[in-house]
Amino acid sequence: MKALVKKYRKPGIWMDEVPVPGIGINDVLIKINKTSICGTDIHIYNWDEWAQKTIPTPMTIGHEFVGTVAALGSNVHDFKLGDIVSGEGHIVCGLCRNCLAGRRHLCMNTSGVGVNRPGAFAEYIAIPVTNVWHSDGSVPQDIQSCFDPFGNAVHTALAFNVLGEDVLITGAGPIGIMAAAVVRHAGARHVVITDVNPYRLELAKKLGVTMAININEASIEAAMEQLGMKEGFDVGLEMSGNASAFNKMVDLMCHGGKIALLGIQNSSTQIDWEKVVFNGLTIKGIYGREMYETWYKMTVMLQSGLDISKIITHRFNIMDFQKGFEIMASGNSGKVVLEWN
Ligand code: NAD
Ligand code: ZN
Repeated sequence: MKALVKKYRKPGIWMDEVPVPGIGINDVLIKINKTSICGTDIHIYNWDEWAQKTIPTPMTIGHEFVGTVAALGSNVHDFKLGDIVSGEGHIVCGLCRNCLAGRRHLCMNTSGVGVNRPGAFAEYIAIPVTNVWHSDGSVPQDIQSCFDPFGNAVHTALAFNVLGEDVLITGAGPIGIMAAAVVRHAGARHVVITDVNPYRLELAKKLGVTMAININEASIEAAMEQLGMKEGFDVGLEMSGNASAFNKMVDLMCHGGKIALLGIQNSSTQIDWEKVVFNGLTIKGIYGREMYETWYKMTVMLQSGLDISKIITHRFNIMDFQKGFEIMASGNSGKVVLEWN
């Protein structure tokens, strides 16, 4: 079968022929219909420091997908051939304390699809039945192909109560923008998003933010004044991985404010710990999606009127994957979907 493979230990990605994956008794074989490109895939493409130390080669990459059930292990009775499914990209052990307690997103032995084991940018993928998500048939397949990052957005956005709250989101990447739509849907009052990228700030406006601020041109403080906010933001969602954005967020939280941290900070990032302590801030790290409460919430929010469709800005046939990677790497896109059919 065809697969996008990190074949050589240098920048790039290559279309290759690899065997169709075999399935164990508890696995599901899925024929891929659509995939979407994640920032992680760009790290692997660019072959940066993280990718060099993390990705064994050759490796079929990709973890955001929707497909059709094509074969079932003998122990699998919950799905049938032809079901349209997406999948959770974190494969957990099922045996550690957190897994046994039902906190599978906190598994200490997590393995990543398309990172540590063969991924979804291929004609077929095999994953354990416990990682397959069958959603309501009304959710378009394009959207289902983005369920993995949408899940990051939902997990972070719903980490704290946002009903009636003022929310600051730093970083208007695809995940930050989807999180803005989610907190809006969940009843937040003001949703302020920041970035340095005009394309993405414009896109954020289409998904319902109160204000989209280019921090190179305007200050968040001025926006707060305009909105009549006197005490600071109640909830912060850090979605940029940028140290100065995180510091600004810490500065602008109200006393008792709550920060959910999805963006991956550099290990050398420093923050003002006095503000954390004396202002009574809560900072919570977020990794992946809750299995499967996040997936449930994603599905039912879409059923109850949440519309994230505008986050998909580009679609390419898989044979044009280079164009897809280039536009994603340029920053002038939301989600980029690759069609395999
Ligand atoms: P992305 O890189 O597409 O978006 C990050 C955005 O932050 C970009 O638009 C960038 O222009 C913006 N930015 C840069 N400097 C900024 C600043 N000073 N102020 C405000 N914005 C700034 O990433 P994404 O795919 O949307 O993901 C968001 C973050 O979450 C990334 O850091 C990613 O690595 C991380 N992530 C974490 C997990 C997890 O499980 N913890 C999963 C997926 C992604
Ligand atoms: Zn585990």
